[in-house]
Amino acid sequence: MKLEGKVALVTGASRGIGKEVAKELAACGATVVINYNGSEEAAAQVAAEIQEKGGQAAVFQCSVADPEAVEAMMKQVISEHKRLDILVNNAGITKDNLILKMKEEEFCAVLDTNLKGVFHTCKHAARQMLRQKSGSIVNISSISGIMGNAGQTNYAASKAGVIGFTKSLARELASREIRVNAIAPGFIETEMTEKLSEAALEAGKGQIPFGRFGKAGEVAKAVCFLASEDASYITGQVLQVDGGMGM
Ligand code: NAP
Repeated sequence: MKLEGKVALVTGASRGIGKEVAKELAACGATVVINYNGSEEAAAQVAAEIQEKGGQAAVFQCSVADPEAVEAMMKQVISEHKRLDILVNNAGITKDNLILKMKEEEFCAVLDTNLKGVFHTCKHAARQMLRQKSGSIVNISSISGIMGNAGQTNYAASKAGVIGFTKSLARELASREIRVNAIAPGFIETEMTEKLSEAALEAGKGQIPFGRFGKAGEVAKAVCFLASEDASYITGQVLQVDGGMGM
């Protein structure tokens, strides 16, 4: 129970990678706040699964793209739990299109959720973590933000932005040993990848030395490591969890 007594907030934890991250953090002893946007029932189900196993969980609806809603969420989480030890910025969306067809709305919506959402939560988390003089932030980037991906100029830009943001914030908070790291997953089996065409999935698999897609639980283990004191001397890093795809 290496996270006993810790309070963690995971954005976009109603399904996919975020759900597994919430369950893994709770299994390690953390009290977990499950943020979601639209999937109320699924989020409640994640909390119930954690509680059935003796863990502590609460749910909070808010779009990370909305700065005022995020402020309200962060204030409530901190006032209820008196601290925030772990923030996992996992909420993310795709709106893929080739550049000639990409609409302004598609570009902005992805940036607003995937990059500005990270800014919104980190601003409030950093204030609390500086007060506590401790904390760990893990931002979920993507292999697309490192290698690029045709049809994903918006998504890749947002995820590359998350990497620059992570390294800059790691430098800002390093004097208090508040750690900020990123994880860049490759192809992971979730609803996000279910949207891809059969051809895109096959092409993707061909680029992975392991020859298979990853599981959300495999990303969750890496998040838990970076969030915990096992990673006490690691900050500003991007850990690729991708079956070797980006090496
Ligand atoms: P997913 O299955 O589509 O789940 C996305 C999660 O994000 C859901 O819980 C969703 O909540 C939440 N979300 C979306 N917009 C939100 C908003 N505005 N505010 C709060 N929550 C929001 O996606 P996933 O595959 O698990 O991906 C999780 C993260 O990993 C994303 O950042 C994604 O970019 C990244 N990633 C995924 C892969 C992959 O292959 N799957 C690869 C690299 C990186 P609701 O259901 O409540 O709307």
